[in-house]
Amino acid sequence: MLMCRDLAVIASDYIDGELAGLQNLSVKLHLMMCGDCRTFIGNLRATTDLMKAHSSGQPDEELLRRIGERVAEALNARTSRASDNE
Ligand SMILES: [Zn+2]
Repeated sequence: MLMCRDLAVIASDYIDGELAGLQNLSVKLHLMMCGDCRTFIGNLRATTDLMKAHSSGQPDEELLRRIGERVAEALNARTSRASDNE
C-alpha cells in the first residue's frame, strides 16, 4: 500500500510519466482515496508547468526533489498528530 510520504517522493516522476505501470497504478489508486495527495499533485504539476514555461532547459529536478521532501515531512508530521488523536 502506497503511503502519502512514498507518493511525495515519486510525485515528480508520476507527473513526468516516468513511473512503471504498476507504480503508476499505485499512485492513481492512492489519489482516488486521498484528497491531500490530489491537492499536492495538483500543486506540484502547476509548479512544474510554471518552471517549464519559464526556462528553456530542463526543469530543476533538485528543486522538485526538495519540494517533495518538504511535503513528505509535512505529511509525516500531520499523520503522526492524527494518529495521536485516535
Ligand atoms: Zn495521500
